[in-house]
Amino acid sequence: MPTILFAAPALWSEYRDPLPAALAEAGLSDARLVTEADPAEVDYIIYAPASPLQDFTPYSRAKAVLNLWAGVERIVGNPTLTQPLCRMVDPGLTEGMVEWVVGHTLRHHLGMDRHIVNPGHVWDPTCPPLARERPVTILGMGALGSACAAALRALNFPVTGWSRTAKPGSLHGEDGLRQALSRAAILVTLLPKTPETENLLNADRLALLPRGAVILNPGRGALIDDEALLAALESGQVGQATLDVFRVEPLPPDHPYWSHPKVTVTPHIAADTRAVTAARVIAENIRRGEAGEPFLHLVDRGRGY
Ligand code: NAP
Repeated sequence: MPTILFAAPALWSEYRDPLPAALAEAGLSDARLVTEADPAEVDYIIYAPASPLQDFTPYSRAKAVLNLWAGVERIVGNPTLTQPLCRMVDPGLTEGMVEWVVGHTLRHHLGMDRHIVNPGHVWDPTCPPLARERPVTILGMGALGSACAAALRALNFPVTGWSRTAKPGSLHGEDGLRQALSRAAILVTLLPKTPETENLLNADRLALLPRGAVILNPGRGALIDDEALLAALESGQVGQATLDVFRVEPLPPDHPYWSHPKVTVTPHIAADTRAVTAARVIAENIRRGEAGEPFLHLVDRGRGY
């Protein structure tokens, strides 16, 4: 009978029903799910970035720390964490991200703003091009990037993907990045925050985009050099940006992004972990741990994601 510590108190009300149900579905109805425990008795820790638990040293018996978030940058460098760390790959979260990316891509592709805000009642019959004529590049072809690519391709957008390692049908490496940026009418960033990806979109790389390209960033704020983006928006090199994530969240009230006419701010809502589906992922990983099977979605500490 494993003891499972739910160490994300702010989320307990969301998970208190779905988790026992998912554990029972996974054949673990005898598991002890608690919000407080003697560290020496804990077998699994369910964690979220704002968790008060920051010192993992006393949890010497824990077989894994199971993160409720897809991004792990706020835990992966914790020096007290020696237990295996699993991140969240939640079908509900992926669906949400696909909807956000497709929705904002279509907004920019169809030029919807012109018609939604049209105080002068201008009759402009300019028809947008077809999706097949609007190349989209996705930086980061992992769980989320590849799902967004599939959805956009289904709408006929020509999608170029770029990631760290070689994958069929997607680019990698510095040359690959140059190619991927140079063809991006719309650029979507779905990379994790790591030392390698921080400020990936700097002035030099923004200059590689076709003039007037649109940027959608639902990945992490630190992927973009904010000063460089503001300058590129000013010069017209970048046409518009829709940003969901920021270096400081909530975005400070005086941040230039709030009032910039070419920037849309969404408050880190592109994709949330959904308790019912996420609880099944957690339960499956605990089942695996108990059966001695490899964990799903194990984080590689060396890579940082
Ligand atoms: P994932 O499955 O781990 O995929 C990450 C992708 O990024 C992989 O394709 C990886 O390449 C690539 N990558 C990592 N480091 C790279 C580098 N240095 N150069 C080039 N490519 C690199 O992650 P995911 O589940 O798709 O999530 C991606 C990110 O989305 C998360 O880390 C998080 O920051 C963000 N996110 C945001 C929200 C939101 O609400 N806004 C919600 C969830 C997640 P390889 O495949 O070659 O390893």
